Amino acid sequence: MAEFDLLITDGNLPDGQVGDIGIVKDRIAAIGDLSGSTAARVIDAAGDLVSPPFVDPHFHMDATLSYGTPRINASGTLLEGIALWGELKQIATVDQMVERALAYCDWAVSQGLLAIRSHVDTCDDSLKGVEAMLQVRETVKPYLDLQLVAFPQDGFLRDPTAKANTLRALDMGVDVVGGIPHFERTMEDGRASVRELCEIAAERGLLVDMHCDETDDPLSRHVETLAYEAQRLGLQGRVNGSHLTSMHSMDNYYVSKLLPLMAEAGLSAVPNPLINIVIQGRHDSFPKRRGLTRVKEMQSHGITVGWGQDCVRDPWYPLGTADMLDVAFMGLHVAQMTSPAEMRQCFEMATTESAKILHLEGYGLYEGARASLVILDAGDAIEAIRLRPARLAVISKGRVVSETPRADARLDLPGRPAGVRRRHHHAN
Ligand SMILES: [Zn+2]
Repeated sequence: MAEFDLLITDGNLPDGQVGDIGIVKDRIAAIGDLSGSTAARVIDAAGDLVSPPFVDPHFHMDATLSYGTPRINASGTLLEGIALWGELKQIATVDQMVERALAYCDWAVSQGLLAIRSHVDTCDDSLKGVEAMLQVRETVKPYLDLQLVAFPQDGFLRDPTAKANTLRALDMGVDVVGGIPHFERTMEDGRASVRELCEIAAERGLLVDMHCDETDDPLSRHVETLAYEAQRLGLQGRVNGSHLTSMHSMDNYYVSKLLPLMAEAGLSAVPNPLINIVIQGRHDSFPKRRGLTRVKEMQSHGITVGWGQDCVRDPWYPLGTADMLDVAFMGLHVAQMTSPAEMRQCFEMATTESAKILHLEGYGLYEGARASLVILDAGDAIEAIRLRPARLAVISKGRVVSETPRADARLDLPGRPAGVRRRHHHAN
């Protein structure tokens, strides 16, 4: 009898080591030099990057793949997107939402994206989206971790039934408490919504993830309240601020006081670079602000920062492919993270850093970890961002769930090689 169910040999691990990974059932049983061992199936990963799976800490699964229904977002702004989503959620059925979400999860699996935190709108009395997403969470459970955030899209205090419906969604089994303080009517209401939602999370023992300060207004400072409440309620390491785009435009002196507060409160952050670069700065003429939050500055204070996808083919964003490397690629450019260490960090932000934010159990490459990983047609993490290459094999809980062939080009040029792969080894 073989020692392992599955053996991956000679993979380039993200930390630069080369190693074999032996899998028994749904766990990594051994990692290191496993030459001479036997396995029911062997995948030779010589020269290829073997990574823990991609993790998306910020998505909207209830809206995905709905682009153009009932119309497109003409202004490209956040606010028109919210209005458009308001129209769409009136006409979408549970079955349509389930079908679109499952199609997206297929894309995700094929890209090695095996854990997603999705916000689900709780401002609809029927809670159709919640019903649909709970169904999807159950269906994909054997191969993809879907974590759901109760998201009062129309404002927890602004929308008359949002509070009751958000509590009902949490009772139905939604995992995380969300919010949108910058969309409440006043700064004071925004602050009150953060306080009340954090108290709900503390009472129920839940994590918090709010859309926070997704605006170019430098005076949108709800992140300060979020950090303060996290600390006051003992929620350190359990609260995430998504977007935080106002930090881009904030006064530097104020930020020098804010960053240590966020670090003390154990707040994490999720910028969504594809969406932030598209949506922010829409009210600017020239120069136009980038609108991405202060990624390197937060990291230098020890704050955990992940990259989120946010939107794919929905009222806010017409593109997207469920590829977290597209997100890392954009984030790297907009945040100007181009030193070798910063580029490697961009890869970690799409994998291990985001896994921390989701509190994923057994995530990573170590003995006893969950046997979920992805093999990429790239030599290392930086090359993976550069090429956004084929996911040669995706393994979820010990099972190969997706395979994609290498996509080398065939050339017909005098005196030149017959094919080209575009791989180019980095000096690290
Ligand atoms: Zn979002």
